[in-house]
Amino acid sequence: MSGSRIRQVDVFAIRAPRKEAVRSGLNLADPVTASEFGVVRLLTEDGVEGLGEISITFPRIGHSLCHAARKLIAPAITGLDALAIPTVLAEVDRVLGGELSAPYLRAAFEMALLDATGRHFGVPVWALLGGRRRDRAALAWGIYQKSPDEMAADAAAGRAAGFQAIKLKVGRELAADLAAVTAVARAVDVPLRLDANMAWRTVPEAVRAMRTLADAAPVAWFEQPLGRRHLEGLRALRLQTGLPVMADESCHTLRDAYELARAEAADVWNVYVTEAGGLRSAAEIFALAAAVGVPCILGSQAEMGIATAACAHLAVALPELPYPIETFGPLRYERDIITGAGMIAQGWLTPPPGAGLGVELDWDAIRTMEVKE
Ligand SMILES: [Mg+2]
Repeated sequence: MSGSRIRQVDVFAIRAPRKEAVRSGLNLADPVTASEFGVVRLLTEDGVEGLGEISITFPRIGHSLCHAARKLIAPAITGLDALAIPTVLAEVDRVLGGELSAPYLRAAFEMALLDATGRHFGVPVWALLGGRRRDRAALAWGIYQKSPDEMAADAAAGRAAGFQAIKLKVGRELAADLAAVTAVARAVDVPLRLDANMAWRTVPEAVRAMRTLADAAPVAWFEQPLGRRHLEGLRALRLQTGLPVMADESCHTLRDAYELARAEAADVWNVYVTEAGGLRSAAEIFALAAAVGVPCILGSQAEMGIATAACAHLAVALPELPYPIETFGPLRYERDIITGAGMIAQGWLTPPPGAGLGVELDWDAIRTMEVKE
């Protein structure tokens, strides 16, 4: 099928201003005020387009990944059949050679290939992922670190806007966390997801913080209380506190998920399309999780419209999705990179209609946000 061969690969590095600076356990001293992401655009010989997004907030290497996409991957896959997705991805994997940030690039190219394939056959990406299990996915709302009153007001506004769960960033001094959690718990009627982003350094420190916060408010789970490699510590927290632990930074790839399962390190896993290396890789982690009885959510790097659409297609196709997911990234930006109505309404995420991912580039937004090398 020569008409589906990849004729052109464009990579646009963009800088997208955030509505609010990101403050969390990882970067208190260095808040992120804009996302340095990338857009991948494939064109086949038939003129069919495929869009992907390079989304990574920590570490801030998005534009380095754009450089690698442009210089290394684009030449390697030009001329390959876009419909032969495993063949193209094998070439992407070969070029990246297992480098640590490879999943983010792989995810962007897989998105673009699935988009092009869906458009070629006239079917939505969720159909390529095995079919539709639900029409839409419930969303949680996430709150960055600021004053207790500001966090409480943000949480209440999130609930009023229809979000079904509330997540907040902890991991500051315990007194500050306690004040924030207490204020937010008073303002909303749901258990809180508390994300420490690896901020607690030892098991005793984490035990103390978890017990203190759980005494102050109903808690859904404690997300990544310890460092990403500290699986024994995560397990110890579960056993010592009896409180639910979520793995996030410890759960990037399928291999990570296997290690988590072996260590019995977490009660729930936060799975990211970008960190897993694509939609199908994320679905494989969900499958492993189902096999070992661990529920999962879909997490977010504050993806913009292309990657959020990809997450929406996966979210409606996953066999099990028991909790609200966190892929509300477009709401973090003044302006998105796609045209058309939003996918997010009343706390629900719905895949855009149409073939492929169902999104079109907003070329004016790309031109405005593009960062030339
Ligand atoms: Mg997290």
